[in-house]
Amino acid sequence: MILFKKAAAVTEYLVSQKSTGKSIGFVPTMGALHHGHISLMVRAKGENDLVVCSIFVNPAQFNDPKDLEKYPRPIEKDIEMLTGAGCDVLFLPGVNEIYPNGLDHLKAYDLGHLESFLEGASRPGHFNGVANVVDRFLQIVNPDRLYLGQKDFQQVKVLEQLAKLKEYATHIIICSILREENGLAMSSRNVRLTDVQREQAAIISQTLFFVQDYYHDYLPAALKEEAIRRIETFPDAKVDYLEFCDTDSFQIIHDWKDATHIVVVTAVMVANVRLLDNVVIQ
Ligand code: AMP
Repeated sequence: MILFKKAAAVTEYLVSQKSTGKSIGFVPTMGALHHGHISLMVRAKGENDLVVCSIFVNPAQFNDPKDLEKYPRPIEKDIEMLTGAGCDVLFLPGVNEIYPNGLDHLKAYDLGHLESFLEGASRPGHFNGVANVVDRFLQIVNPDRLYLGQKDFQQVKVLEQLAKLKEYATHIIICSILREENGLAMSSRNVRLTDVQREQAAIISQTLFFVQDYYHDYLPAALKEEAIRRIETFPDAKVDYLEFCDTDSFQIIHDWKDATHIVVVTAVMVANVRLLDNVVIQ
């Protein structure tokens, strides 16, 4: 695995590789890697000649300075995991490499309702920060395929919108959610849970799978209430939102007949750790 810290150097290397006909798969991450990240790597490996992974804890997408400060950064272990997974190139930039004009000069993207809806409503500026970093990465790496996790469903919608706005030819590949044995969606933030919280947080995915199995027996409003009630039987959990959305428009649906494909999305605070999960139910 070749490690680059400078944007110009990684671009130069990848341009030369592309000129020999190699295809490039790109997996952007914030590090603290787990098997979910590695599953994206493995998929990218199978579909491209060269896989590039980035590790960059993007300050522009943190609306809570404490969350940014507490974000885990086990870089040695990450490098070991990426090497083991056969990553070809690791891009590990500093903040100045990504934001040469400083964090006060972020671009503003037209992300439509996604910007201030659900995850966007709870985290003002978050998705604009995500769009800034991924736009910059796409310019630096210029991959054939960009690998994103379904776990961050709204983020995928935002990045599809970015790709459309900027007319990127890069294909977006959505990868399924990897879960811990008890069903909890793997997340870098899970290490901030106590063992007991980590065990009990299984109620989140159990509830989403219950929704998937029984949604036809309920009206959406009643099912939403029931799902929140189930999750909040875990005393440390507070549901920030739980909604049924059209997977295409990412608008809330009020009747099962309103959309062909429906996803149930939720964000749950467990103590001060924010956990996201979703399941496509129809
Ligand atoms: P992050 O490091 O949290 O920014 O995540 C980097 C990428 O890995 C994003 O595309 C995530 O959606 C994806 N990802 C995170 N957790 C999982 C998971 N449990 N399963 C699959 N992909 C994931």
